[in-house]
Amino acid sequence: MHTATFAISMPLRFRGIQRREGVLMRGPAGWAEFSPFLDYDDPECVPWLRSAMDSATRPWPEPRRATVPVNATVPAVDGATARRIVERSGCATAKVKVAEPGQSLDDDLARVAAVREALGATGLVRVDANGGWSLEEAEHAVALLDAEVGLEYVEQPCATVEELAELRRRTDVPVAADESIRRADDPYRVRDAEAADVAVLKVQPLGGVHACLRIAEEIGLPVVVSSAVETSVGLAAGVALAAALPELPHACGLGTTSLLDADVVAEALVPVDGVLPVGRVEVDAAALDAVRPDATTDGAWWARLERVAALVPEAQELLR
Ligand SMILES: [Mg+2]
Repeated sequence: MHTATFAISMPLRFRGIQRREGVLMRGPAGWAEFSPFLDYDDPECVPWLRSAMDSATRPWPEPRRATVPVNATVPAVDGATARRIVERSGCATAKVKVAEPGQSLDDDLARVAAVREALGATGLVRVDANGGWSLEEAEHAVALLDAEVGLEYVEQPCATVEELAELRRRTDVPVAADESIRRADDPYRVRDAEAADVAVLKVQPLGGVHACLRIAEEIGLPVVVSSAVETSVGLAAGVALAAALPELPHACGLGTTSLLDADVVAEALVPVDGVLPVGRVEVDAAALDAVRPDATTDGAWWARLERVAALVPEAQELLR
């Protein structure tokens, strides 16, 4: 199997990190990405490797649509900046960060109001609190923001599954679970607790495109496919999942190339008119050359891949 490591800096700190690293591998089915976050231990990386093996060795499921709508992402910025981000994106849906530490509900209000104005009446505004509200704060904030601009849904308003379930009983605004879904059995836990109206699924941590499609079918909740801040190789797998879902009622969180300073393909998967194309992408030699990590990082990734592969029986043969 053809493999290469990469390290790409990020223009803004995101999830506490400022660089994305990983291994790209090309199998008989095409390119795949293995890029678990650096703070994950080896067992936690197993589904990420299964995901890469899946994409590299198996054709993706039959797509049911040719393009996938994605949302614009608005960080905890002021109203004028939020408006500019949305207008530039060409997206009809915007996800707006709320409940940022050090900011107030007034800041959130100003931001979502600017986003609503930029999108117009037909656009959809979803907010993402990243678990930052208490139950009471969430109930109050969601009611206020919904009354002000109308919300498509609120993503991870509170930290725990129990709080999400309770908030659902207190509001008519749909609740999406994101951070509550990190491992393959989490979607079922969220469903069983009646904690969400929408499940945010990420391909790599949940074991790959085929595994996610099975989860989506089994949990019976609308799914929003999101990225783990990947290169276009990883994003293409997310797009493949979104394209294969029986229903796709919401725009996906896959328009994240702008969070990286570079990419590994000649033409990055950047949304045009709010959608991404479905299909495999090819790694570009020159692009890959430009993001080649130093020897220490390179060595660390090969060592990591070897340790994780030792935990996945079918991986050892393939990577040999
Ligand atoms: Mg989120």
